[in-house]
Amino acid sequence: MSLAQPRSVRNFVGGAFVDPVADEWIDDLAPATGELIARIPASGAADVDAAVAAGRAALAGAWGRTSVAERADRLDAIADVLERRAEEIVAIESLDAGKPSALARRLDVPRAIANFRFFAGAVRHDETGFFGSEKALNYTLRRPLGVVAVITPWNLPLYLLSWKVAPALAMGNAVVAKPSELTPLTADLLAHVVAEVGLPAGAFNVVHGLGPAAGQALVEHPDVAAVSFTGGTATGKRVAATAAPAFKKLSLELGGKNPTIVFADADPQAAIDGACRAAFTNQGEICLCGSRIFVERSAYAEFVDGFVKRARALKIGDPAAADTEVGALISQAHRAKVEGYVALAKQEGGEVVCGGARPSLPSPLDGGAFLEPTVITGLSPTCRTATEEIFGPVVTVHPFDSEDEAVALANGVRYGLSASVWTRDLSRGHRVAAALDTGIVWVNTWLLRDLRTAFGGTKDSGVGREGGRWSLDFYSDTRNVCVAL
Ligand code: NAD
Repeated sequence: MSLAQPRSVRNFVGGAFVDPVADEWIDDLAPATGELIARIPASGAADVDAAVAAGRAALAGAWGRTSVAERADRLDAIADVLERRAEEIVAIESLDAGKPSALARRLDVPRAIANFRFFAGAVRHDETGFFGSEKALNYTLRRPLGVVAVITPWNLPLYLLSWKVAPALAMGNAVVAKPSELTPLTADLLAHVVAEVGLPAGAFNVVHGLGPAAGQALVEHPDVAAVSFTGGTATGKRVAATAAPAFKKLSLELGGKNPTIVFADADPQAAIDGACRAAFTNQGEICLCGSRIFVERSAYAEFVDGFVKRARALKIGDPAAADTEVGALISQAHRAKVEGYVALAKQEGGEVVCGGARPSLPSPLDGGAFLEPTVITGLSPTCRTATEEIFGPVVTVHPFDSEDEAVALANGVRYGLSASVWTRDLSRGHRVAAALDTGIVWVNTWLLRDLRTAFGGTKDSGVGREGGRWSLDFYSDTRNVCVAL
């Protein structure tokens, strides 16, 4: 699993791979072993300046003259190369993020490819509005916004980067991407792919570095027209405070504390399997993970018993092994934060019925940030453990007595990203879906995504929607043209 030689990653600016102006660098460690795997630029304002200037030059030059059809073809060409290099990407993403390679193969990589293919198709088939009357014809032009900043987290690195880059390029913008400093490798790979397919220089740029330096400089830059940010709620607040006074278009996809609601009439095994997937996929490090499980009291004991058995059976270990289901958390620091919540849960009166400890794994995995899937019961649903985002393999389980109570508990947090509801009563499923204060509701499933649908959260989980036509809307300006008859 170790790389003989740590990679040297450089910024991608104006079609060239370049060192950071200040020649400062950051170490990139493998979460599963703690080994150094790469050295990446610690970029600052000067690097951001160069990348934004490259984006503007691209818009004024060859990239600005491309047709919709040409851009769609380029996105398909990127998807083709990603597909050809899929196994390499699986290995890199798993190494860099600590996630099971089986998950990267099943989820991250197919989705990154699909993002490029989907938005190639979406822009080819895009229809804009037309309003005719006896006096005039009104029609809608979509214009690129200009240089768009794309800032992404570490949990689904290429999946989330491509989710923004593909529609931004499809609509004719230039992109400056600032990937997470913890998982820079697939953003670097994407830069190489973009170079290989011959996208005009400056259409896509990558500036690596820390959030408060490179990320902040990018959001502040006066020539950045829009910011698409996915990350934590506290960071999102800072990004909004910087971007809003400059009237930049802003999309914020932030944290979650998502409920899984299991009614007594649900298929018990499907509910256990679904809740377990929602809880522990990617070590619980997905914004959509269901970390608060509410179970109708008559089914509670049986559910907890089955759920704990299922959680205990999950195979934790080497992310590169084909049968691993739970890999390493992103870093030692993040594991310490998650462990802090397990300690807090005990202080708050909770019982750790499963997990809570570090697994004992052989060298070099003993240097990794592993934590067992953890199930906690007996907590008040309003305590900190049950209401704050933990973003790890830790769930709390709570009984409820009525549909109204389940909805009130689910809605009783600052977050409103997603929910999953398990019931055989479809009327109830529709009713609860309408009553939940979240951007996404799944009924009898979890993380079943259709890229045409709106994606995003309410309350502290974000502002705006991306996906399908919502992405095309976000990454373009709408111009109405009125022609008198
Ligand atoms: P984070 O907020 O720490 O970092 C996200 C990105 O923002 C990184 O690239 C970081 O370098 C950058 N950044 C940090 N400070 C910045 C600043 N001042 N200005 C500009 N950029 C800055 O989040 P994280 O720890 O990388 O990711 C985990 C969080 O992301 C969780 O809260 C999770 O719920 C959330 N998330 C949300 C979604 C969603 O779609 N809603 C998806 C995935 C993750």
